[in-house]
Amino acid sequence: MASGAIRLATLALVLWPVVPLGVGLRAGLPGDAAAWLGWLGRACGVVGLAWLLLAMVLSIRLPRWDQALGGLLKLWRFHHLLGAGSFLLLMLHPLLLALAAVPGGPAGVLATLTPPVGAWPVWAGWAALVLMMVFLAPSFSFFGPPDYQRWKWLHRLSGAAVVLGLVHTLALSRTLGPASAAWVWGGVTALALVAFVWRLGLSRRFARRRYRISRVELLAERVVELTLEGPPLAYDAGQFVYLAPLDPALAAGRGEEHPYSLVSAPHESALRIAIKDLGDASAALMHVTVGSDVTVEGPYGRFLPRRHDQPALWIGGGIGMTPFVSAARGFAVQSESVDVQLVYCANDPSRAYYLRELEDIAAERPGFVVHAHYFADEGPLSPAFLESRVADFRQRDVYVCGPAPLLALVERLLRHEGVPRRRIVMEEFDLL
Ligand SMILES: Cc1cc2nc3c(=O)[nH]c(=O)nc-3n(C[C@H](O)[C@H](O)[C@H](O)COP(=O)(O)OP(=O)(O)OC[C@H]3O[C@@H](n4cnc5c(N)ncnc54)[C@H](O)[C@@H]3O)c2cc1C
Repeated sequence: MASGAIRLATLALVLWPVVPLGVGLRAGLPGDAAAWLGWLGRACGVVGLAWLLLAMVLSIRLPRWDQALGGLLKLWRFHHLLGAGSFLLLMLHPLLLALAAVPGGPAGVLATLTPPVGAWPVWAGWAALVLMMVFLAPSFSFFGPPDYQRWKWLHRLSGAAVVLGLVHTLALSRTLGPASAAWVWGGVTALALVAFVWRLGLSRRFARRRYRISRVELLAERVVELTLEGPPLAYDAGQFVYLAPLDPALAAGRGEEHPYSLVSAPHESALRIAIKDLGDASAALMHVTVGSDVTVEGPYGRFLPRRHDQPALWIGGGIGMTPFVSAARGFAVQSESVDVQLVYCANDPSRAYYLRELEDIAAERPGFVVHAHYFADEGPLSPAFLESRVADFRQRDVYVCGPAPLLALVERLLRHEGVPRRRIVMEEFDLL
């Protein structure tokens, strides 16, 4: 789907809950300021819950389907924004209702916020809000950098929060007309339920496939390349999969799924994945047993284009080279012309573990040129370095993948040099 269409679809998704609110208003406008505040408070509740349900729908993670919508990383980012937006609106909901009760005096405000114990629909709403605070706190790094597994576990509370939110809304609903309420809550809840059941149950059975590790190659200190034999997988260079190792001898991360880009070329029969030790699960994979099994779910993502004939600059840093390695390995069986300049950023030559292979590919492939940049010798990547190696870099489409500081630096540099934002595509190896 073209990016204009994706933007329109995004806008429609964000704004659609306003339509049933407008329809509800046609039955009669609020009479005074307090009534308007009350309506606004309830509207915040309606839109907040609708966005929370939509965020849930977006977490479905169907292999390949994400490509048409811009890739899984974009969908996750949208999911995060919807989640954060819904939280803000749901916080505003009781605040505005309390403000609307001000003309009734402090007793009215207190009764709105803390009704009698028997007013269970209101308490269900409070419980939903508290659960949201608990499962969203790690996403906002509220208690420091989040531990991914704890974050994932806490995110399951979103299911309970949604159920409580729906109980609250359906029991108290007076903002939407009955017809609108039926299709809004019935429709989105059904979609969210499908997403929830698929993600937590069916995807294990239908989307995960089993592979056997046939080779473990140490590429450099704390980096291995795994070769996986199993059913054929159709994917594009630059896509990633969720890998869960099943080796019983692993010190950590057994059965845990983590995203890794494929470094094999799409035409190869085996899958290859390069892993850097960045935490306990990836560190354990440095010692995974040849012959043990893994499950693979995917492919996901949309980072690189399928054809490489448009002038492009690829900038990869460290393990962020993996999408580019897959694409370069694919050049071996492609006949169309390419125009790609690759800047390989590494700390020093010992960390440029794919450089030799990429230079060999470049020697055989006209239009593909590789440049090494060593931080230890040359400091951060600079416009002068790019100017001297890729003089026309400002006119190229730029694809960048690597650690967050490299992405931030390259984005600043390119924007400063006048490269428009729409020509810069970034892939960050971090979903939180
Ligand atoms: C699209 C994508 C492609 C990636 N490709 C590669 C690759 O080719 N090679 C490679 O070595 N690494 C890759 N990574 C990074 C890799 O997923 C993390 O290094 C790995 O998950 C770390 O897990 P850990 O338990 O060892 O470390 P932890 O200490 O648990 O995690 C370190 C960081 O990795 C991220 N992370 C951890 N688990 C997950 C998860 N299940 N889903 C999303 N993010 C997670 C979190 O941001 C966390 O802060 C990729 C990440 C993404 C998002």
